Formats: sequence, C-alpha cells, structure tokens
Amino acid sequence: MRALPSLEIFDGDVNTFVIVLEPSASIKRCFSKIDFDVLSIAVTSVFTTIFGKQHNQCFRIFKSRDKNADCYYFFDGDIYLQANPKRTVNNVIRTIIHELRHWQQEKIFRKNIYNKELYSEDTKSKYWNSPLEVDARNFDKIISTQVKEIYTKLMRVKKMNKENELDRFHTPSTVT
Ligand SMILES: [Zn+2]
Repeated sequence: MRALPSLEIFDGDVNTFVIVLEPSASIKRCFSKIDFDVLSIAVTSVFTTIFGKQHNQCFRIFKSRDKNADCYYFFDGDIYLQANPKRTVNNVIRTIIHELRHWQQEKIFRKNIYNKELYSEDTKSKYWNSPLEVDARNFDKIISTQVKEIYTKLMRVKKMNKENELDRFHTPSTVT
C-alpha cells in the first residue's frame, strides 16, 4: 500500500481503489490517538460507495505552516493540518474529508480552482462564499459522520482482535 506514489491516478487495475493517508512523523505524534491506517480504510470504503472505483491515491499529511488554517495544496495534493493535539478525532476526520473534497474538485471533477468565480481567498467573505468552498463544507458535513462510524467500528474490531490474540496471521501450513 505504501508504495502508491503521490498524485498518481491509476486506471490500470479497475478492481482496486485505495486512498492512503500518510501522516508525517509530527502529525503522527500530535494525533497519536488517531490510527491513520484504519482511517484510510474507512475513507476508502465510503468513497468507493459513492464514487465507484476511480482512482488510487496516497495523501501525505503535514503540519500546517499557517497556525490558523487547514489546507489542501493544489499543486502537490498534500494535506496540511493545524497540529493542535486538543483537536477531537471528529474534527480531524472532518477536516481531512473537507480537504479530500478539494482534491476531488480539482483532480476528478476538473474544476479550475484558479477561477476566482469558483474559489477565492481575497477576502474572508469571498472565501466563505466561494462555490468550491461551500461544496467542500457541505460534503464534509454529509460524509464525515459515515467515515467516523466505520472508523469507530474498525477500531473496536482491531482492539477486540488484539485482546483475543486474533491479530497475528498464520500461513495455512501452520494452521492445525
Ligand atoms: Zn476548503
């Protein structure tokens, strides 16, 4: 899974669809309560349900340079989060979904994000009312609940497996 290169949209194997969230070391440390591997699976499963099998993509997640803003970098497809350990899991998931929507707008739906009619950061109100920003906000509102639900269930199963020692795989020959 880790081998997926950034910003590569595969159309070779239509039977696979994977979104991989790859946090930097500092993001991992800051949000140590979040299991990004499990979150990747939850996001993949919800996005597959809605959009079908379209693309494989690895998103790297870094600490935001701007203390007050989360963002998606249109040039390289990376996601930048405010690294505040007090942020709730819900809030982080919602932000990631929001930034993934901006990626979709650009890469999947081919919206011109440099068109000021669609997206502008010129003023606070222009930014807030930009069609692409409104769309991303509505999208994260609808989708993040579903992702969180799946994430929570998968985390519960992971914990249960560990407790019951069902987390180690055996090759068939060792199973008796
Ligand atoms: Zn936005």
